[in-house]
Amino acid sequence: MTAPALSADSAERALTQGRWVKLICGASNQDLPAIADLCAVYAMAGVHCVDVAADPAVVHAAREGLAWAQERQAHRPWLMVSISDGQDPHFRKAFFVPERCPSDCSRPCERVCPAMAISPGAGVSPSLCYGCGRCLPACPLGLIETREHRIGRDGLTDLLRELRPDALEIHTAPGRAEAFDATLAAIGAATVPLRRLAVSCGLEGHHCTAADLSRELWSRHAALRARAQRPLWQLDGRPMRGDVGAGTARAAVRLWRQLRPLAPPGPLQLAGGTNAATIDLLPTSSDGGPAGVAFGGMARALLQPLLQEAERRGQRLRDWPEGWSIALQRAEALIRPWLQRPLGAKAC
Ligand code: SF4
Ligand code: SF4
Repeated sequence: MTAPALSADSAERALTQGRWVKLICGASNQDLPAIADLCAVYAMAGVHCVDVAADPAVVHAAREGLAWAQERQAHRPWLMVSISDGQDPHFRKAFFVPERCPSDCSRPCERVCPAMAISPGAGVSPSLCYGCGRCLPACPLGLIETREHRIGRDGLTDLLRELRPDALEIHTAPGRAEAFDATLAAIGAATVPLRRLAVSCGLEGHHCTAADLSRELWSRHAALRARAQRPLWQLDGRPMRGDVGAGTARAAVRLWRQLRPLAPPGPLQLAGGTNAATIDLLPTSSDGGPAGVAFGGMARALLQPLLQEAERRGQRLRDWPEGWSIALQRAEALIRPWLQRPLGAKAC
């Protein structure tokens, strides 16, 4: 059964009802066709937002999948892009000097590139390359290398004007209030209207307490208010650790329980370690619970064998009816408990 079409303000309503679900999809170095398929599957299943890396090729793939789903159910989740106010807003991109290529090369690098980022005489287009690495072993002369590609604050304004996302997420960390404010300034200069500006932060890897983290979030809240941005707090229980094991669900829920009485105004959303077990660790009613959840590694892992089989067949998952049907069932089974979460007395 396919999720019903949702109205334009359904994402905001879901946040107030504790039923918000976000798909985290499309960090760098992933496969563009898989990103498009993942976005299509989870949009059809009813997620309210898809969060991808702030990379033109990745955003383009996500939009393709979302548009495909919208044609079929008239619902398009928000497209959110993620950046960082720290030193890690970077990707690796392929690079080579075209003048070094022999004129009789059959150009296998071009053929294997799924992003069509390599063109004769021009080498690799940084705006199209998303760092998948396929071209590196394809070159018989070993001329292709990867280079770090940082977004940087100067480039951020232009990048946002180009990407025009519905929402934005800034990954921040304790001690980065100044960098956060400078990032906000670069975002403001883009004059791209944002439905929400999410702030993602956790405790792991930072030597601080929940009270310290709360103070950091209050300082981010003041900065957001000063720039008339509406917050959404993403509590990252287990950043970048893989989300599949049932035990990891506890980290995100524990962080939410710690921050709930201390956090600034705005919806609190779980992430990092979230999986199918998360909802069972929360109050049975959405009243007093978190605003919602983001699924990343778990959402991808459920569909990974199907994505691989579709690739082996040389098809998009969307064009393989049996695979698509299983994928949609799996996606719906993951997020349906959130979409159907009982409302508490206040939320009703
Ligand atoms: S240029 Fe190379 S690394 Fe970049 S997208 Fe194409 S194949 Fe992947
Ligand atoms: S395969 Fe290597 S030598 Fe040939 S065009 Fe590509 S980068 Fe140049």
